[in-house]
Amino acid sequence: MLPVALLWDVEQKVKLYREQAVVLRTVRLGEADRIVSLLTFGRGKVRAVAKGIRKTTSRVGGRLEPMSHVALQCWAGRELDVVTQVEVIDHFRLVREDLGGLSQALSMLEVSDQVAQEGQPCPQLYSMLVRALKTLASSSSPLVAPAYFWKVLALEGSLPVLDACATCGKPEEGSTTLVAFDMVQGGALCRSCRQGLAVSPDALKLVRRILNGDLSAVLAESPGPAGAEMARLAGYALEAHLDRRLKTLHYGYSLGTGASPSPACPQASL
Ligand SMILES: [Zn+2]
Repeated sequence: MLPVALLWDVEQKVKLYREQAVVLRTVRLGEADRIVSLLTFGRGKVRAVAKGIRKTTSRVGGRLEPMSHVALQCWAGRELDVVTQVEVIDHFRLVREDLGGLSQALSMLEVSDQVAQEGQPCPQLYSMLVRALKTLASSSSPLVAPAYFWKVLALEGSLPVLDACATCGKPEEGSTTLVAFDMVQGGALCRSCRQGLAVSPDALKLVRRILNGDLSAVLAESPGPAGAEMARLAGYALEAHLDRRLKTLHYGYSLGTGASPSPACPQASL
């Protein structure tokens, strides 16, 4: 039988774990602490207490801002874990200093927070978010977040029909063009079945390119009206999937394409 001191030591090691994570959001807890929501590589969404984080002398505080990519050590508590060490992998300073980039990053964090589940590892979502934040740091395109939304829908197994009419099944070819989009009907719709949002062939083409491995080329192009339309469609499709409004899409979210900030789901005139 192990000595009591050694048993205690073993127990502490089991409760301590290391993870890499992106900080999704933080909320105040009492005078000096915060609860930090993290999207981790191996544990899905984790909520942990960062003690003393709001004190001006806190060395941890600046490391656990939303969007920060961190390596941390936590102690697994019964209800909430406790952050014991933090190292910053990437603070994404350039994204924070750019209003357009910041808006896109905040919407990606909100979507990730909605999709990720506590206790359900989803390393693909974690990797996608880290990649998307890195892309934001190097691209000025306003289509990074919308592209992320489509990829999240694909990861969730909830992609709408995009290359045929979701109602009658006619593929987009010859005289059949897809002119509308409705998530209740399951995706794009032909002229005969149209309802929901009006949609242009160019916007649907952009969505298909993003999902078929042509994202880099899409982001390198000037987005134009089709890009703005595709972005609104992405917000609408994701909100329909989540069955809730995304705060970050309706507050100061600008596409930077000449389009004014608008609801993700404008009513189409068909
Ligand atoms: Zn149809």
